[in-house]
Amino acid sequence: MENVETKLREEAKKLLAEKKVDLIVGYEKGTLPLLAPPCFITELEDAEKLVWNAFCMQNLAKFVHDILSQHRESQKRLKPADRTKKTVGIVARGCTTRSLVIHLQEKQYNRDDVVILGVPCTGYVDRKKMDALVAGEEIREASVAGDSVLVKTVGGERKVPLKEVLADNCPTCRFNNPLISDVMIGEQAPAMDAAQEYAKVDEFEKLSPDERWNYFTREMDKCVRCYACRNACPSCYCKVCFVEQSQPRWVGIGEDRSDTQVFQIMRLYHMAGRCVDCGSCIAVCPMGVDLRRFLKKLDKDALELFKYRAGISPDELSMLGTFRENDREDFIFEPK
Ligand code: SF4
Ligand code: SF4
Ligand code: SF4
Repeated sequence: MENVETKLREEAKKLLAEKKVDLIVGYEKGTLPLLAPPCFITELEDAEKLVWNAFCMQNLAKFVHDILSQHRESQKRLKPADRTKKTVGIVARGCTTRSLVIHLQEKQYNRDDVVILGVPCTGYVDRKKMDALVAGEEIREASVAGDSVLVKTVGGERKVPLKEVLADNCPTCRFNNPLISDVMIGEQAPAMDAAQEYAKVDEFEKLSPDERWNYFTREMDKCVRCYACRNACPSCYCKVCFVEQSQPRWVGIGEDRSDTQVFQIMRLYHMAGRCVDCGSCIAVCPMGVDLRRFLKKLDKDALELFKYRAGISPDELSMLGTFRENDREDFIFEPK
């Protein structure tokens, strides 16, 4: 990834020097091992901070939406003649570009508001898996060396194969290379094992409705309503989320079981045809709730019922924004 990093920094500097972007959203080396946090580069010399490796976890499309919508709001207070345009550069792998496509389909901003630095992706490390592998020993340092992760703990050094600690969404990712980009950095990454994409959903579908409901209930009982999942998700961008709306109040704000289930069911359904399986919501969940099981089920349903995959082309209408007379509707029924 060293070459990718070098080229990424060069391209970032060029974009800033030529004033083609106002800032670049990327990743930098963090203060904690195994985590490369987001960074916001506005100065040429700071482009040297940019990194690209298997510790780059978060889907950065979230920030593009936040920055551009805040800018748009701020411009409303100005006279038309004083208004300015803001252009954001973003370091984007496959799933991030899919989120950008969703934003474009949903008319959140224009294509020329964003400059996409596409990067090839071979997946990111799941911290929880690594913690389990080192049996909870404090990890003091971590680095990627080829197909392995080297970790230093109080107990010594260990070399862990990268594929053993990849986040669950990565090994079966269908779109690990950018779907849209303005500059492609480096070669395309080899394809992942996409044939297994729905293996866990297939198993889940074999369970009885009671077993599935029990699984849902058990998982959601872990939820503490911190909303980290919602806050990390690029597809969750409503100005006022239904959980915080008070007129009318749709759902109680405490940890009552039924309120938590309503929150989760509504958020999950808001993701139908809009989830790109980036895993950001799962990575930030402090309680280890298995959100992916349900998100992938909805994703598979979108494919089977509507032949739709989320975030593939900005020119395509979104699944929920389209109606065809022959759309299936046999799954709509009156509960007995
Ligand atoms: S889901 Fe795909 S594109 Fe996203 S981080 Fe994993 S391998 Fe990369
Ligand atoms: S619901 Fe989770 S996995 Fe899906 S797009 Fe949002 S953050 Fe990514
Ligand atoms: S991040 Fe986890 S605990 Fe927090 S609201 Fe989401 S599912 Fe619940």
